[in-house]
Amino acid sequence: MTTEIEIVRTVADLRAKVAAWRANGETVAMVPTMGAIHEGHMSLVRQAKGLADRVVSSIFVNPLQFGPSEDFEAYPRGEARDAELLASAGAELLYAPNAREMYPDGFSTTVHVADLTEDLCRRERPDHFDGVATVVAKLLLQCGPDIAIFGEKDYQQLLIIKRLVRDLNIPVEIVGGAIVRESDGLALSSRNAYLSDAERETAPLLRAAIHQAAQQMAAGDASEAALKNARAALEAAGFRVDYLEARDPQTLAPLSGAASSARILVAAFLGQTRLIDNMSVPPQA
Ligand code: AMP
Repeated sequence: MTTEIEIVRTVADLRAKVAAWRANGETVAMVPTMGAIHEGHMSLVRQAKGLADRVVSSIFVNPLQFGPSEDFEAYPRGEARDAELLASAGAELLYAPNAREMYPDGFSTTVHVADLTEDLCRRERPDHFDGVATVVAKLLLQCGPDIAIFGEKDYQQLLIIKRLVRDLNIPVEIVGGAIVRESDGLALSSRNAYLSDAERETAPLLRAAIHQAAQQMAAGDASEAALKNARAALEAAGFRVDYLEARDPQTLAPLSGAASSARILVAAFLGQTRLIDNMSVPPQA
């Protein structure tokens, strides 16, 4: 099946398209991505399609959110394939600016969401969330959608974006999309492509470990005990755990003891590849 998607590369062209839809009384949803489109991104586009008349997706590999030793250069890129997949999921417009369009000479503004960015992924990636918050604020202001959808896969990021939109009065509703997983439980991620065959076999244990911990907490166990078991299982399988924590699902404040409602968040390295995942307490699946 051939599906049509128009590609625009400038803020002016993006705004003109969105304005034409609005003049027709149509609503607009946005699904920002960094490309390397997979079923996780496509599920967000389908969800967007159910919530608005028109769907804009964006692809921008944002240099601001990669640390100096991270994989900005190596990050997988392939616009033609990505455009086809986004179109097949229902996106009508792809916004794919280059770095100069996004950050013209003299660009000097940073968006920093203080409260929710102080730990978890911040520890290993100190400037990451400032880069994310800055580019997401720009994308939302450039496009002006009614709704924007972000995956729960990046749970801390989702909460940061909700906060920045509230704090800066950006007139958009932020909606979370459920995590899409492989049949063995591994959360889909563009970075899974970096895993060796042996690492790929081990990787589903990340989800299994936090699911087990979520079940234990739902049954009344203290978070410390549940997380201790999960950490031991991960380390025994060869993961290097960056963080493994139970947090308040809205504020990400640390929790201790028994808690009937929480979010378990994990980041762990398998070899060179850093994987993240998270699970609600009680677990959904
Ligand atoms: P990325 O291209 O990795 O920056 O991701 C773009 C959007 O897709 C973000 O909102 C992510 O949270 C979301 N996403 C990535 N992987 C998944 C997944 N496995 N399930 C659901 N959403 C995802």
